[in-house]
Amino acid sequence: MEKKFDLIVIGGGSGGVRAARVAAGFGASVCVIEEYRLGGTCVIRGCVPKKLFTYAAGFDGLFDLAQGFGWSVDARFDWKKLLANKNREIERLEGIYGSLLAGSGVQVRSDRGVITSANSVRLQKSGETLHADKILIATGGRPFVPDVPGAEHAITSNEAFELPTLPKSIMIVGGGYIAVEFASIFSGLGVETILAYRGAQILRGFDMHVREGLAEELHHRGIKVCLATQPKVIEKTAGGLKITCSDDLQMKVGAVMYATGRLPNVEGLGLETVGIELGAHGQIPVDEYSRTSCPSIFAVGDVNGRAALTPVAIREGAAFSQTQFNNNPTTVDLTIVPTAVFSNPEIGTLGLTEAEATAKYKKINVYVARFKPMIYSFQDTETRMLFKLICDAETDKVLGVHIMGSSAGEMIQMVGIAVTMGATKADFDATIAVHPVAAEELVTMKEPTYTIVDGERI
Ligand code: FAD
Ligand code: NDP
Repeated sequence: MEKKFDLIVIGGGSGGVRAARVAAGFGASVCVIEEYRLGGTCVIRGCVPKKLFTYAAGFDGLFDLAQGFGWSVDARFDWKKLLANKNREIERLEGIYGSLLAGSGVQVRSDRGVITSANSVRLQKSGETLHADKILIATGGRPFVPDVPGAEHAITSNEAFELPTLPKSIMIVGGGYIAVEFASIFSGLGVETILAYRGAQILRGFDMHVREGLAEELHHRGIKVCLATQPKVIEKTAGGLKITCSDDLQMKVGAVMYATGRLPNVEGLGLETVGIELGAHGQIPVDEYSRTSCPSIFAVGDVNGRAALTPVAIREGAAFSQTQFNNNPTTVDLTIVPTAVFSNPEIGTLGLTEAEATAKYKKINVYVARFKPMIYSFQDTETRMLFKLICDAETDKVLGVHIMGSSAGEMIQMVGIAVTMGATKADFDATIAVHPVAAEELVTMKEPTYTIVDGERI
């Protein structure tokens, strides 16, 4: 018998699950189709296991520090134990996702969904066809690996979460979020780590102070950061992998991991049958209400290419259901998106970079503080924490906040509230400091470190 729903969601990740639950809450009959595991990238092989690994790796520096505070630590690390604990926690969360959907009255089908018309989806395994007034595509993305000879010997973040043993050494290719996060993870867990990035400085798109600062910090922590290079050929040898780089330098490592971006999951989805054409980056173009060029089909999360972050997918999913099933047109404003990079040290950032603010505003005031964090009081270290505020000199509005150091992610979430509310530098100054915490710098940087007028630093 053919089934008819108000909504079919293809993809049971962050965006799809949120949309399904919110729509069901408004009384819609909803079916979620998930081909792999409920929870999607974030829960199964993204944010959550990554953060657990990041915690594991973070102990490395702490054991050294502890000695200055009087502790003697005999530390040993067991990768298999971490993997087993991580897997148990992921299974628990996956189960919660299933219970939440069931509790909301959402039907879940473990299958692959293929769109067959503006209102129908075929289940690839069962062969069944489901019908709905509306279809939501929330299929996320997958790792992209460039076409390099021997790239089939490399892993991506997907496999990094399941390695049976840790390699002795690894080359991570790329200079974005995943590359710097996994470089910190592997290095912290004792793997000799090389980060090979094709450009002049890692983290393109981030503020230059943060980019340069993190490259230095990774270097201090023993990661070899190789800029303007990437593998040209990867060959399997008896002892591991031999890499010939674009600058003809040769290296031998135990593993290579590509962290060179992600592609939207659109292959074999049947988009051509409903006339949906892809954007330049393979994404599904949508309007502000996540509607595609086919009026009954919508797309949220990574697959629409707006911002590949879990909270954005969740917001878009909820906004879609508010609009379509609660008669409450809702859009998601991505003007200010606080975000964190869970490298060691962490980065928290929001708003404009100095380069962006310089291009957009006539006069900006820039406040920069770099200092040795208090926890390093007993250690001779070159590690520095960084706080940077960028403000419009005319309106005094805070345009950008960039933090590098322990708990930067936590801090940027809080500052994000103030900046989203339109805080000025005077509002920051009027806030009483908390002492002694690193974040007091945010409210105690009184005089600009420098000012930029018409692109000229004065
Ligand atoms: P997904 O969560 O990817 O869900 C899509 C689901 O659709 C998947 O479960 C997939 O199996 C399923 N699917 C695909 N095609 C079909 C089909 N045809 N039929 C049925 N099912 C299908 N973001 C953050 O905000 N913070 C972080 O710290 C962070 N860390 C990350 C670390 C890593 C290693 C990675 C890879 C990503 C990270 N992200 C992080 C990004 C975040 O995971 C994504 O932005 C988020 O998961 C996107 O949600 P989504 O719903 O769009 O897609
Ligand atoms: P990013 O876009 O962050 O980085 C991709 C990196 O790969 C860049 O350094 C890019 O270089 C490089 N690259 C791209 N193509 C090639 C190529 N052909 N050859 C060599 N290098 C290449 O992607 P990630 O995969 O790191 O992460 C995907 C997204 O997931 C992120 O953008 C982010 O939105 C999300 N994410 C969020 C996290 C968080 O919130 N903490 C953590 C992990 C992921 P170039 O800059 O020169 O183009």
